[in-house]
Amino acid sequence: METTRPLPISNACPPTCYVGLDLGGTRIKAGLLDPSCKVLTRQIDPTPTDSRPDVVVKVMNELAHRMVEEAGLEWDSVGGVGIGVPGLIDSRTGIVRACVNLKGWKDVGLRELAGKAMGRPVVVDNDANAAAFGEYSFALKRNAGLHHLALVTLGTGVGSGIVLNRRVFHGGGGLAGEVGHMIVEPGGHLCPCGQQGCLERYASATALVRQATELMAAGKRSKLERYLEDGSLSSRIIFDEAKAGDWLSQRLVEDLAGYLAVACINLCRVIDLQAIVIGGGVANAGDLLMDPLRRAFTEQNWGIAGGIKPNLNATELKNEAGFVGAAALAMAETGEGMFGSFL
Ligand SMILES: [Zn+2]
Repeated sequence: METTRPLPISNACPPTCYVGLDLGGTRIKAGLLDPSCKVLTRQIDPTPTDSRPDVVVKVMNELAHRMVEEAGLEWDSVGGVGIGVPGLIDSRTGIVRACVNLKGWKDVGLRELAGKAMGRPVVVDNDANAAAFGEYSFALKRNAGLHHLALVTLGTGVGSGIVLNRRVFHGGGGLAGEVGHMIVEPGGHLCPCGQQGCLERYASATALVRQATELMAAGKRSKLERYLEDGSLSSRIIFDEAKAGDWLSQRLVEDLAGYLAVACINLCRVIDLQAIVIGGGVANAGDLLMDPLRRAFTEQNWGIAGGIKPNLNATELKNEAGFVGAAALAMAETGEGMFGSFL
């Protein structure tokens, strides 16, 4: 009888590295981490056009071996492999229930498949959850008392993951942490998810461009008009023009920060987060986003107990959070490395 989970392989020596794989629809971002979550080496491979699970696993296995070799290590020193996958994942069984970016992936037993191919313990989780755990492991190095953190990534949509009690919080059906679909404007814009007024409709790059377009169509004048005319209007341009003093751009950024602050405050009221990390392409705006966000958060946050407030920071791991977190999840799962002492 087959086991649903590869058994950990005993090592004569403690493991010295962990593989993290961030499996995207077009690229696989990978990194090799040491037991303190330091990145030893990193690589990116295209996701194979033939996206059958066994083909993708073969490519990931080769990529992982290449990194171990590049770092001058032996495969036997790999303590575990973590894989972040965009989709609906049953992290307990390592089964990918659905994945829109990978054709034909439905109910794929990825943990078992990759475990057999790689001969190491494998952990599989949703890519946003993995990224949140990556941010958590990074922040933990600075603050050993950190237990609860959320990552909110603002890109074409709003992705997120929550770490509660030092573990990724999955909820009853594996759907926890969908901050992008928290309702921040009752009766507001219709979201593809079926709800109205989701954060994603007000705080993503897509939303920023849509709202700029709508306001200009309604007759508001702005320096953004010429970008709208030549089809180059983007969230980055809106932030640039806000910095240059364009009033409409400034209003759009303030509005976005206001909605995001509401979502952050709601999260804090429910689960008393210690840290919230903002990631994604929109977070590249840095202080242009973070300053109005912190301001809006402080204005709307409750005043009791001296105004309890989490650390609100832009991501420092950026697009490496996914593979860092995947490797860190493998490390935490085996109770080794920097997680060995308290998880
Ligand atoms: Zn929604």
